[in-house]
Amino acid sequence: MIITIDGPSGTGKSTVAKGVAKKLGFTFFDTGAMYRSLAWLILKEKIDPQNQAQVESVLPRFQYEIRQAAHGERHYYVNGTEVTNEIRTQAVSMAASQIAIYPGVREEMVKIQRRYGHAVDAVFEGRDMGTVVFPDADLKIFLTAKAEVRAERRYRELVHKFPDLSMSYDEILKEIKERDETDSTRAISPLKKASDATVIDTSDITAQQVIDKIVAMRPKRRYPKMKFSYKFVYWLARIFFKCCFRLKIYGLEHFRPGAGVIAANHSSFYDPPVLSISCPEEVHFLARGSLFEVPLLGWLIKGLNAHPVARGVSDAAIFRDMIELLQQGKKLILFPEGKRSETGQLLPLERGLSFLVQKSQCRVIPAYIHGAYDAWPRGRKFPKLFGKMTVVFGSPIEWEEGADKKDAQARITAQTEDAIRNLKEWLESGARGSPP
Ligand code: C5P
Repeated sequence: MIITIDGPSGTGKSTVAKGVAKKLGFTFFDTGAMYRSLAWLILKEKIDPQNQAQVESVLPRFQYEIRQAAHGERHYYVNGTEVTNEIRTQAVSMAASQIAIYPGVREEMVKIQRRYGHAVDAVFEGRDMGTVVFPDADLKIFLTAKAEVRAERRYRELVHKFPDLSMSYDEILKEIKERDETDSTRAISPLKKASDATVIDTSDITAQQVIDKIVAMRPKRRYPKMKFSYKFVYWLARIFFKCCFRLKIYGLEHFRPGAGVIAANHSSFYDPPVLSISCPEEVHFLARGSLFEVPLLGWLIKGLNAHPVARGVSDAAIFRDMIELLQQGKKLILFPEGKRSETGQLLPLERGLSFLVQKSQCRVIPAYIHGAYDAWPRGRKFPKLFGKMTVVFGSPIEWEEGADKKDAQARITAQTEDAIRNLKEWLESGARGSPP
């Protein structure tokens, strides 16, 4: 789901977009940071930002990357160098708005922004998000505020940053009015409200009030309907895990329609049912035939779309079944360690996951299960019936076809293993914001 927030500077766009993303567990994209990052490269290469041809010639060498730390903080990189702080200088601000008018630059930025917007829940903040970049966004907001109010905010911000500021309020107001004029009259992607955007005037309300308004406007997500028998077992099991294990679930915003492998750590017989009922839609998994004979557990997993794997069946036949489910657009739970961990620690992932993903070209939703090991570790005959469990889902990992199939497979395995470890770290460091 995409929410766009556009508007001139001084309307509180960044604060509001960040606040909305945090409240909804969405990812926040500051598209100004992309223009700034390119400007940083232009200045580093000693190119004059006024020289359109030279600026555009840098584009093929511009590799932009966002890396997210475990606690949700975002870091920006250009060609492998971190630029998070450097892009906030006055020189970069000036150069960013100079180069933002070139068609080649805008075209490249739109491409990058759309790539980031593919299959994510995100709030994109900028100037042309609702009009040019995401014309089909689920919710479009256009923030405005009286020029006097914006000038006042900007003045206070500058005085706070630079106590010996030499500009007066009147000069800032004049500059804001001039910038409004240039931004809204430039030939390409001028700053304007999309016809289907909702306008919110932020002159007389607080940022928190704006955030609350936008959050209340968010369209409801619709998951595919569950069949009755599944829903029955799902809710019974959910009540059991919620009441007996105070189950907490994070990261549901990472679910997308369509096929996907939900890949989690595995150390307990509790893992398949607790992971299934933590998902907001029907999922499938394969289970050893003998598990279906365990009283209660057998009934539970059968109701939750477990597919029995008979003793002696070849791996090829099992993979065929799984690929078929994925090709039908279903979600499949997989424990890529290949066996239950004896210590509760994550084991190295086996190659089966990457093979499945490559064959079905689907995405991976990494997941981390906490607490199931304590409740029912390997070697214990009877499970505990009380305790604490948490399930965390992470950002989807998309399959990327590479020239070398083996490299591409190794990449998705490594990315999944890292993602599960990051989810564990995110949970252990306080579960703040949206899981990575
Ligand atoms: O929002 P911020 O001040 O960080 O943006 C830096 C510059 O990038 C702006 O002055 C604007 O000219 C440009 N920009 C743009 N389109 C966007 C975002 C930023 O033209 N979507």
